[in-house]
Amino acid sequence: MNVVHVPVLVNEIVEFFKHIHGVFLDCTVGLGGHAEAVLTRIDNSVVIGLDIDDEALDFAKKRLERFIEEGRAKLLKSSYVDAARVLKELGISQVDAILMDLGVSSMQLEKAERGFSFNRDGPLDMRMDRQQTLTAYDVVNFWDEEALRKIIFEYGEEKRYARRIARFIVRNRPVETTKQLVEVLAKAIPDKYARKRHFATRVFQAIRIAVNNELENLKKFLAQVPGMLRPGGRIAVISFHSLEDRIVKEFFRTCSELKQLTKKPITPEEAEIRLNPRARSAKLRVAERV
Ligand code: SAH
Repeated sequence: MNVVHVPVLVNEIVEFFKHIHGVFLDCTVGLGGHAEAVLTRIDNSVVIGLDIDDEALDFAKKRLERFIEEGRAKLLKSSYVDAARVLKELGISQVDAILMDLGVSSMQLEKAERGFSFNRDGPLDMRMDRQQTLTAYDVVNFWDEEALRKIIFEYGEEKRYARRIARFIVRNRPVETTKQLVEVLAKAIPDKYARKRHFATRVFQAIRIAVNNELENLKKFLAQVPGMLRPGGRIAVISFHSLEDRIVKEFFRTCSELKQLTKKPITPEEAEIRLNPRARSAKLRVAERV
């Protein structure tokens, strides 16, 4: 398979971490882009990489093969929510650095059968972990109208048409594919509004967050960070929408054991966005354990 996944804000990450010659916990190793940059550009670094997507892990294992053989990288299937347990099993009590790159990898987006993209016709799936039982199909076809309205309003931040969209989805059941869902949304959302931004973006985001329990997972993980990161160690989080960014910002601000190194989030330069559309909405925040 020929996916080119360009890691987002990679130079900025390396700048913040280049003095850390120790153990990096990459919570979302994905296709191994950030991990590879750390391993090639930071001397004496070791990466423990986690992901819940088997396909991504297989890809990253090939990409990082030489480092795995040298004993500098270890990739494991696990949710980052369980990172503390994984580290314990590896006999590691604290790490020197933590990386999180939230959102969807380009491989997940590009493969129609994963159901993440409204531009490709595929099944309503959207699971990051394909062993999980809950799928986008279940959410779209079995959740009641009020539950749908709520996630579209909260997770999709679709304040204006959440109710109408939920009603249209329920009326048009069964909705089998991403394309059918896009058609339902096109009917539910007035033209004038839809033209401003792809009308499916927010609803797809909402369903994805619900299927993967993304915001809860992020909160659960962050709460464990002070216990996992050694004093002087650093954590970087790249988020892709305001709901995630707000959670990270609040946590860094209120956690007395962390000092923010980024008052304002760092965003990619124009040039990076031109080369890598995935970077468009990325925001990086970094904090240091005191
Ligand atoms: N930094 C990576 C890209 C990460 S994309 C790179 O440079 O290649 C985000 C990844 O997070 C996806 O592969 C997704 O499967 C993974 N992910 C999502 N939720 C997760 C969770 N709870 N635990 C671990 N990984 C998760």
